Amino acid sequence: MHSFTTVFNNYSWEETLDSIYRKTPDDVLRAIYTPKRSLEDFKALLSPAASQYVKLMAEESRRLTLKRFGKTIQLYIPLYLSNECQNICTYCGFSYDNKLERKTLTDAELLAEAEFVKSMGYRHVLLVSGEANQTVGVDYFENALKLIGPVFDHVSMEVQPLDEHEYKKLMSHGLENVLVYQETYHREDYKIHHPKGKKSNFDYRLETPDRIGRAGVRKMGLGVLLGLDDWRADCFFTGLHVNYLEKAYWKTQYGISFPRLRPCSGGLPPKLPVSDRDFVQIISAYRLFKPEIELSLSTRETPEFRDQLIHLGITSMSAGSKTNPGGYTVASQSLEQFEISDERKVPDVIQAIKSQGYEPVWKDWDKTF
Ligand code: SF4
Repeated sequence: MHSFTTVFNNYSWEETLDSIYRKTPDDVLRAIYTPKRSLEDFKALLSPAASQYVKLMAEESRRLTLKRFGKTIQLYIPLYLSNECQNICTYCGFSYDNKLERKTLTDAELLAEAEFVKSMGYRHVLLVSGEANQTVGVDYFENALKLIGPVFDHVSMEVQPLDEHEYKKLMSHGLENVLVYQETYHREDYKIHHPKGKKSNFDYRLETPDRIGRAGVRKMGLGVLLGLDDWRADCFFTGLHVNYLEKAYWKTQYGISFPRLRPCSGGLPPKLPVSDRDFVQIISAYRLFKPEIELSLSTRETPEFRDQLIHLGITSMSAGSKTNPGGYTVASQSLEQFEISDERKVPDVIQAIKSQGYEPVWKDWDKTF
């Protein structure tokens, strides 16, 4: 069975990084002005040589985004199901070795959270959980989808990687979209950041998008945790991955997110910090390489910065988020997965989107179409 691993194994991290660092200003200008960009152009857009052209890249990113998506921003909100987790991840507040009270939502709590989120206006929810097969396994997710399916129009999931038949099972209960982040494509550093638990299996995670694609899930989202490793190479491998998936599973729609490492309980500082300027370069590079792809922004970024990014290529964002299970109605004080930066209430974010001439969209798709 073919998978991304075959493509990935043809690349060396060091050679890829070296080739990105060797790109020249001429390579960057060619990549900005060419109508269809290759993987080599994408490397140029991510290179240090491109940092002097970020403004030009951002303008082109804005133009392409307006052409494909118009002046719209999709809105979604995460709903944390559980902070139980059997993995150790060096950057996460829910890591198995962190001493914190573990919590998994009961049916009544899940419904209360869902109704509360719906009352904020949301019709698209992202279900999030740690990895604890005994308590939050496929049966739990199946039940959660049955319970909240009638409450929302669009349900996405960001939970542990599953097998193909498990994705199929959840699709039959309304699952529309699966997000899976590789965290880093640096095989050796991945091991350092994931020393224990199922997540330590790099290849199983790397092949998760293939299983999602084979199951026929309508949408999927990829990304890395910016700051864990050199972001230029990690973003290149994310683009390479999406490039492969678009050809292998052409019926699926793709999205990319770009979470920056944030403080959490027991968390670690970034190995290579990602500045705001770098962040704009990343968004623009993704947009220029893949003009039709969804680009999502979380509340990890500050309000001022998020407002600026609205024009630069973002197509969806969360607002009013809590990153702890029961955070909306049940347990506002329990430990978060990571700290958020934009703590504005939903109406304030809506106002910020509208004041820039953009339309906030709660729902853009219907099964009957
Ligand atoms: S990142 Fe996910 S898998 Fe890792 S400790 Fe946090 S919740 Fe668990």
